[in-house]
Parts: sequence; structure tokens; C-alpha cells
Amino acid sequence: MAQRTVLSGGRLPSGKRVDIAIDDESECIVQVGTVSLQPSDKVEDLQNMVILPAPVEIHAHLDKVLLNRSLPYDVNPKGDLDGAISAMQSIDLTPKDVFSRAKQAVLEMVKNGTTTVRSHVDVRDPVGTSSLLALTELSAWLAETKLATLQISCLMGRQLTGRLGVRNRALLKESIELGVDVIGGCPYLDDNPREALNILLDAAMESGLPVDLHTDETLDKDVFTLRHLVDEVEKRGVETGVTASHCVSLSMQPERTQLEIAKRLAEARVSIVVLPQTNLYLQARGVNQAPPRGVAPAKLLQEAGVNVAAGADNVQDPFCSVGRLDALETASLLILAAHLGPDVAWETCSNSSRKALGMEEISFAVGGPADLLAISGEDLRSAITQATPDRLVIHKGRVISRTKVSSSFST
Ligand SMILES: [Zn+2]
Repeated sequence: MAQRTVLSGGRLPSGKRVDIAIDDESECIVQVGTVSLQPSDKVEDLQNMVILPAPVEIHAHLDKVLLNRSLPYDVNPKGDLDGAISAMQSIDLTPKDVFSRAKQAVLEMVKNGTTTVRSHVDVRDPVGTSSLLALTELSAWLAETKLATLQISCLMGRQLTGRLGVRNRALLKESIELGVDVIGGCPYLDDNPREALNILLDAAMESGLPVDLHTDETLDKDVFTLRHLVDEVEKRGVETGVTASHCVSLSMQPERTQLEIAKRLAEARVSIVVLPQTNLYLQARGVNQAPPRGVAPAKLLQEAGVNVAAGADNVQDPFCSVGRLDALETASLLILAAHLGPDVAWETCSNSSRKALGMEEISFAVGGPADLLAISGEDLRSAITQATPDRLVIHKGRVISRTKVSSSFST
């Protein structure tokens, strides 16, 4: 008889008490409800924990993550995007260091329940493809240990067009040959944004890879690469998966423009990744009167039928000095900065992100994937609010992490 793992005595986000049986071989949920135990079952007593769909970190920068732990506090004194880019120019990234920090960060995410990660990685001189190779090594280790799934997006250097873009175009080709999972870049920073966008979309369509762009990261509403992206996706019929990250300038457009773009994004099946943590950190520096939040209008987009995902972006590096590598923090920020309810905020951090990555969503149904996070708490809202470290993490049907904390009071 096939071996099963039985999660006993947990609760679904709805509050319903359930046992969940998972088949070890198929890695799928095989029973939900009251499960009669068999002698060969491995049983995990959840003691009333809330069981959630496992979150996804859809937008990490693992080559830069945790850099601030070894840098002076004022590494980016301006605190804005330009200041962060300048700070990075004085930092020497070695593949060994990238691997080590990225591994530490992913293990922290796994402990917190995130078992699927998409990371962008800088591909440009002077690092060339060395950081990409370091993350490829990490991805292979994570696949072998079955702790997490890591997708890598080549974040191409700012100039892709013209004579100045020759080297970066060669690096894009090299990244694809090295087996990168996703095509990435910042077309809005190029001297010719439309042509840069076309180069990236051409590469995606020719290689059959999905594309995930830093579409824009600016409060300047005249920088609206997202519109160009929708134009191109509609014209070309890109079928490999298109994701637009940040989309800060969308938050500055008149509402009628936001609604018009949202309708087109939904029809073209372009996913939007909202990144409140780093946008709140970098945007609107020095604006004292009514500072904009710089967060794409998640609620408006969702109401228009757009698939909206969310991530943490930069964590403890020159682009954002804080961050806990915990999707519950991102969910909390979505509640604060995007005014989503807790249920929608968690869906945005979990199933909507899975959808953007082309993965099957988690509905606790028989036959469905068993990527789950069990956490102490009364319900989803209290799980997000308290974000206790008391967690049990299941990835591909296997319990891969248990964290238990205890407190005592002396009176
Ligand atoms: Zn980013």
C-alpha cells in the first residue's frame, strides 16, 4: 500500500476542522475530511493550526538579498532607486557570496512557508552571467533536496538597444543558452524603451520562455511602458506567459486610464506583480505633502479581472533595508498599502502567484497539489497579524520544515 502523510486536526482558512491525507508518491492530496488512519501512515498532529495554500515569492532578487548585513547602515543615504543603483556599483559580488546569501535567504523563506521562488538576477557587466550561474547551482541543490523550487529570470542591463547594447544583447543570448527560466529586463530605463521591449519579447518568443519585466519603477506618469507592453502582447499574441512587475506609474494615471489598461491586461492575460515593500521604501522620497504610495492599484486591477500577484522584491539590501523573507509580511503590507482584505491578500501571495507562474492552484481538493503552510492562529487574519514562527511547511507532499517556539514568564 502506498505511504501517506496525514495532517491531523488542522483547520482550513474557513475554520472547518479537517484531516488531510497526502500520497507520498503522487505528492497529491488524496483525502480531505475525517481520515481513518492506517498503520503505515505518517501522522502530523497539527493541534488546531490553520492550513493555508503555501505562499510563493514571485519577485526576489537573490543576488542582492541580505547584502546589508555586511554593509554600513547608510549605504543608500538618498534612499531612492538611483541611490540604490549607485550603491550597488561599489559592491563586489562574487559567485560564492551570491550563492551563500541566496541559500540563507531561501532557507529562511522555506522556514516561513514559501517553497516556490522566482528570482531576478542581474546580468550585465562586470558580473556578466556569474551570479546567474551561482543561482543555477542553488536551484539544482534545492531541486535535489526537494526543499523548494527556484525559477531564475535574467534581469538584463539597462541598455539593450543600439551600439551601447551590443554586450547586453550577447549576454541575453548567453543567458538563454545557459538555461535561464524567464526573460527579464527594465525596458523603461533604455534609451529606446519600445525597441528594448521588442528585443525582450522577441527573445521570449524565440526561446519559448515566459517574460517578467520590471515594466517601470517610477512615479513619472509619462513613463508608461505598460501600455507599450499591452500593445505588443495584443499584436503578437504572446503565449509563453507575460508578467509585468512593479507598474508604479500605473498608480499615477487617471482612473479612466487605469480602467482601460486593466481591461486590456485581463483580456491579454498579463499578470501584474505588486511589490508594496520596496515601492514604499524607494518611492516618493522627499515628498512631504501627500506622498504617493507608489503601489500599483491592486484592487482596481483585480476587480477588472487581472491576475494580480505580490512579492517582497528587495530584502535587506541597498534597495530596501528591511524585510523578513516572510509572505505574511507581504500580505500585511497589501492590507495596509493596497487595502485588500486578508483573504484576497493571501490569495494574491499564494494562488495568484502560482497562476502567474503557470502552476496549478491549491484548493485543498482531492488530486490537487500539496504545497501547504500550517500556522498557529485563530484564523487567516490572526495568522497574518501575528505571523508567529510556529509553523509546519509541506512542499510537494512532504513535511520539510517544523518551527516551534515557546515562551515562559517569570513572576
Ligand atoms: Zn525587482
